[in-house]
Amino acid sequence: MEDTNKDYIINLRVSRATYEKIKHKAKENSESISTLIRKAISDSAEIIDDLSGELFQKQDKFKDIIGYHRFKTAQELECSQCQSKIPAGETATVGETEKSKKYFFCKNCRP
Ligand SMILES: [Zn+2]
Repeated sequence: MEDTNKDYIINLRVSRATYEKIKHKAKENSESISTLIRKAISDSAEIIDDLSGELFQKQDKFKDIIGYHRFKTAQELECSQCQSKIPAGETATVGETEKSKKYFFCKNCRP
C-alpha cells in the first residue's frame, strides 16, 4: 500500500556556482537550503500564475469582480483598467472579487 502522506524528494543537479549561491542565500536568510528552494518554487509558481492570468485572460481580467463600491483614496493608486494614476483624496471605485482581490478604477473608467 502506498503511503500518501509522505513527502517526496527531488534531487537536483546544479553547478557548483549555483550551489554556492543557494548556500550563501540560505545562510543569509538563516534557513536551510531545502526551505529556500521550496520557497523559491512556490514564489515563482505564484508569479507565473499571476503572469499567465495577466497575459491570457486580459479581456476577462475583471470578470471575477463580484461587487463595486466607492471609496476615498488615502494614497495614490493606479487604475486597473487604464493604468492612470488616481491621486490621494480622490473618489475612486473598487471592484472586489470573491478571493478578495481588489481592482481600482479611476473616474473615467467607472464613473
Ligand atoms: Zn482608468
